Amino acid sequence: MKRPKKIKNKKPRIRFDLLTIFPNIFDSYLEESLISRALKNKFLEIKIHDIRHYAKGKHKKVDDRPFGGGPGMVLMVEPIYKAVEPIGSRVTGQKAKIRTILFSTRGKKLDTASAQRLSKYKQLILICGRYEGVDERVAKHIADEEISIGDYVLSGGELPSLVLIETVSRQIPGFLGKYESLENIKGSYPVFTQPEEFKPNKGRTWAVPEILLSGHHKKIEEWRKENSS
Ligand code: SAH
Repeated sequence: MKRPKKIKNKKPRIRFDLLTIFPNIFDSYLEESLISRALKNKFLEIKIHDIRHYAKGKHKKVDDRPFGGGPGMVLMVEPIYKAVEPIGSRVTGQKAKIRTILFSTRGKKLDTASAQRLSKYKQLILICGRYEGVDERVAKHIADEEISIGDYVLSGGELPSLVLIETVSRQIPGFLGKYESLENIKGSYPVFTQPEEFKPNKGRTWAVPEILLSGHHKKIEEWRKENSS
């Protein structure tokens, strides 16, 4: 019997446009696992834009000193504007299905609810800050919202953008494939696998809770409920 053909997505379910001054950071992460599979079968599309490419002059300057003084450099508004403009966002009369996000320590905290909300867009433009941050006019006139991934300071928006891409993608039906149902029922209870007893050294035994080996599904379910967070 012939196997049914896999249904190919004609159009990606979501497209991410990443704006960064370090375009090479992403390669190895995106080549692994579920994201790589989703990119290969065109479930997702990710386009990386080098902000420097849109900068003026021989030196392709993307940053400058902050007005009013203070330490560090600030990413300039113009190259970011020029990178976003051809993609089509708020600046150019936005299509409803596009959302432009600026990563910022002052942004709204990313959580499952916001990932779920963002997963409904057809396209997300992600602006990665660096150095002391980004000229505030980007937040005011170009981005639709600012997002933080937690109360700590990172060196740039590149890691936050990978975090966002992954958590948003996991909200889109089909991304997790055969793990999908598992994800829905799993919650976050402790899990164990072989061996039943691990003996790291003499006199020590790290055992799996007996209930999990009992084959008693109802009791196992109760145990998981009690131990989930
Ligand atoms: N002095 C700035 C630090 C900027 S860090 C401040 O206190 O806000 C440089 C860039 O990294 C930021 O512009 C932002 O794009 C990104 N970034 C750093 N930490 C982040 C976080 N927790 N969440 C999201 N983006 C972050």
